[in-house]
Amino acid sequence: MKYFSRMNPNILQTPIDYLKGVGPNRADLLRKELGIHTYQDLINLFPNRYIDKSQYYKINQLQRNTSEVQILGKITHVKTVEQKRGKRLVATFMDDTGQMELVWFRGHKWIRESLKINQPYVIFGRTNWYNGMFNMAHPEMELLADHEKSIRSAMQPVYPSTEKLSSKGITNRVVNKLMQQLFLDTKGQFYDTLSPTILSELKLISKAEAVFNVHFPKSQEMLAKAQYRLKFEELFYIQLQLITKNLIRKAKIKGFNFDQVGTLFNEFYSNHLPFELTDAQKRVIKEIRNDLGSNAQMNRLLQGDVGSGKTIVALMTMLLAIDNDFQACLMAPTEILAQQHYNGLRELVKELPVNIKLLTGSTKTSDRKEIHEQLENGELHILIGTHAVLEDKVQFKDLGLAIIDEQHRFGVAQRAKLWKKNQTPPHVLVMTATPIPRTLAMSLYGDLDISVIDELPPGRKAIKTVHRYDTNRLKVFKFIRDEIKKGRQIYVVYPLIQESEKMDYKDLMDGYESIAREFPLPDYQISIVHGKMKPADKDYEMDRFVRGETQIMVATTVIEVGVNVPNASVMIIESAERFGLSQLHQLRGRVGRGAEQSYCILMTSFKLSNDSKTRLETMVRTNDGFEIAEVDLKLRGPGDIMGTQQSGVLNLKIADIVKDNDILKTARYYAMKILKDDPSLSKEENKVLRFTYAQLAKHKNIWNYIS
Ligand code: ADP
Ligand code: MG
Repeated sequence: MKYFSRMNPNILQTPIDYLKGVGPNRADLLRKELGIHTYQDLINLFPNRYIDKSQYYKINQLQRNTSEVQILGKITHVKTVEQKRGKRLVATFMDDTGQMELVWFRGHKWIRESLKINQPYVIFGRTNWYNGMFNMAHPEMELLADHEKSIRSAMQPVYPSTEKLSSKGITNRVVNKLMQQLFLDTKGQFYDTLSPTILSELKLISKAEAVFNVHFPKSQEMLAKAQYRLKFEELFYIQLQLITKNLIRKAKIKGFNFDQVGTLFNEFYSNHLPFELTDAQKRVIKEIRNDLGSNAQMNRLLQGDVGSGKTIVALMTMLLAIDNDFQACLMAPTEILAQQHYNGLRELVKELPVNIKLLTGSTKTSDRKEIHEQLENGELHILIGTHAVLEDKVQFKDLGLAIIDEQHRFGVAQRAKLWKKNQTPPHVLVMTATPIPRTLAMSLYGDLDISVIDELPPGRKAIKTVHRYDTNRLKVFKFIRDEIKKGRQIYVVYPLIQESEKMDYKDLMDGYESIAREFPLPDYQISIVHGKMKPADKDYEMDRFVRGETQIMVATTVIEVGVNVPNASVMIIESAERFGLSQLHQLRGRVGRGAEQSYCILMTSFKLSNDSKTRLETMVRTNDGFEIAEVDLKLRGPGDIMGTQQSGVLNLKIADIVKDNDILKTARYYAMKILKDDPSLSKEENKVLRFTYAQLAKHKNIWNYIS
């Protein structure tokens, strides 16, 4: 019985204080700084990286992006260099292929005295390229003679640490010692946490081997195997939990059964569709219909890039609700968007017996009264609105479906409020144009099902995107003039105005003035919209642009979400380097909605960081929201991506949600397969999974991941 070794699994729950070498002070530090309370926690302190000291580099092999290297050579010369802020000590270091510099900014006297000229040294550290030469600051160094005497394993782990830990003497070396002690105490006999079937199908190494090799790698190869096994395990148990949760939700929360695909839906589909649906739209409608007829409450996220045609999907879903004698509501984050939805949907159903109304903050009292009445007696089929829909006074007779557009503006609490309007929760469809990379979505929204419209309607001309420096402004102005001559409209967008950011306001106003000078009345009319304006003024200005009375809209990012002006064909983004990728993509999505060729011009200064360059290049290269989201994720890391802040799902110990995408997919596949076959994990061969899962749950090791 290899899988349940004799070792008591509870030994891993031993408080860290009991480990030899850890006194009360160290235990306290480990708890506070690294969250290490038990043996188990220490085992799960995985190295951030490994230093490969098995290789020696020659100076002429150094690359500008080589990280840490070990080099054998001699110091030929030492000098002190005066500079603005203090002195530095510089040594010339040579091997038989070239020379480089070693630099110290502190501890000159002591170092200078200890350096031996013309004796072979082994140095180790990170190299920089400076003044046409490589240098290494504060290298670790050892005389070759000493180096040969010491014993080391080739791959040295570097553990996560904090300033406090190292200042209190808990160095990497100490952590390494503690780890050794732990392996001695437990004899390294870790029982396995995956089933024999998984281990053999995926050719994974045992838990004991994996844990040992991640801390004391015998070779590169064993390290890779160890990491794979541990990453798989981590992702597998998260998926197991997410999927279980979703199954439980579906089993528990009964939903209305929309078993009729009735007259309205069929009538609309056969006689009123204004265009042929794309395959993606058809697929998504089918997915939704399956949910609605399944007796369980639908809780679905519909992702689709700007312009992919989510509205028609929303409408057809609402028709299904009405066909089954239920009411539907659609919420949008702003008044303008709600109004646009209302206009668009009313147009689509104008020949159908569907009663549809709009409720926003500015709905007149008399209209409001009528809406309330019709909602309560069931005469009103579809209510479109803003947050106003959530007010307690708004009561439905039979709310069967709630659709939320642009999800990130609505909090979870608000979603819950919609539920409360009913005994049985309505089906919920959340629509978002912010593409969340699938990998992330899979891990984050285990409790939401996901549909994706990954295809744009045919005949769209791809938006042409270019990057221009501020010095090219005159050419850009000429381009604007030409487009206006053709009858098009133009957006010029500045970074967001926030209360404290006087600079933004100044930029916007300066920009506005220079555009007003360049495009004077009466030939040109300009709208301006920014965050400091009163909502009524904003709406007025926006409206003029929507109606085509103004040719240029100068704005801050308030126009980011959803505004639809098909005649606008140029989006100019000022200080584009200051915007995030997803924001740039959202802004660009404001154009390209009509039949004309559209353009997006990214204006920047010459001073660009590497990340800004990547963002701009990405925008110029592609219009694909998902590709952009992937790049964004890589640049910013998952923590910052929309909607993930509040969910701790990404506190992974060893896996990386971006880089380990393939492992995640495999883990998800296995979790699904196993749960499908054995939902309660009661089969003999899944016993170990159930046991481990229970242990993780008991010690809150999984639940940390999910908010
Ligand atoms: P979004 O997903 O951004 O909400 P919309 O639903 O507003 O997109 O659709 C964008 C535009 O594309 C609308 O003008 C809509 O009428 C049009 N559209 C949607 N689906 C199709 C289709 N299958 N064929 C042609 N045009 C379509
Ligand atoms: Mg939309």
